[in-house]
Amino acid sequence: MTTALYPGSFDPVTNGHIDIIRRSAAIFDRLIVAVAVNVEKTALFSEQERLQMIVEATGEIANVEVDSFDGLLVKYARKHGVTAIVKGLRAISDFEFELQMASMNRKLAPDIETLFMMTANEYSFLSSSIVREIAAYGACVRGLVPPGVEEHLRNRLGLFK
Ligand code: ADP
Repeated sequence: MTTALYPGSFDPVTNGHIDIIRRSAAIFDRLIVAVAVNVEKTALFSEQERLQMIVEATGEIANVEVDSFDGLLVKYARKHGVTAIVKGLRAISDFEFELQMASMNRKLAPDIETLFMMTANEYSFLSSSIVREIAAYGACVRGLVPPGVEEHLRNRLGLFK
């Protein structure tokens, strides 16, 4: 059985993430979406909220599991029998950081491959941070995030219709 791991902050999960989740779940037997809990990073949504939003948005995809982790990604990957780490690539600007991370992870765990999936064109501009920013200024985020996330943002930040 092949297991893929899709890690990220998911603060909050966007339709760009969901696209990568759907496409990887179609390739692997099992996909673990793992919310990175970084104590040094201040997030808009709590760990529980981020998990819940992903669970709500991926409920109909049978082979997706949602979890959180802190510490070393490869340690978590080993513990859960992960075959490959999946990352999404939007633009050249993602590449440098992702190459560095993938190279370090290969050094730490040569048996675990990192696979990159190109973003769907319509989501190439989309990031959690830009969603948080425009929502905070009252812009509508419909079509950019799953409907449940829209609701969470509305409750948290108020205002946009
Ligand atoms: P963000 O960069 O939006 O804050 P994360 O840190 O949660 O997102 O990213 C988790 C993973 O999802 C990374 O591999 C990132 O490159 C990828 N990703 C984020 N947004 C998109 C998108 N719109 N299309 C494809 N992949 C994406």
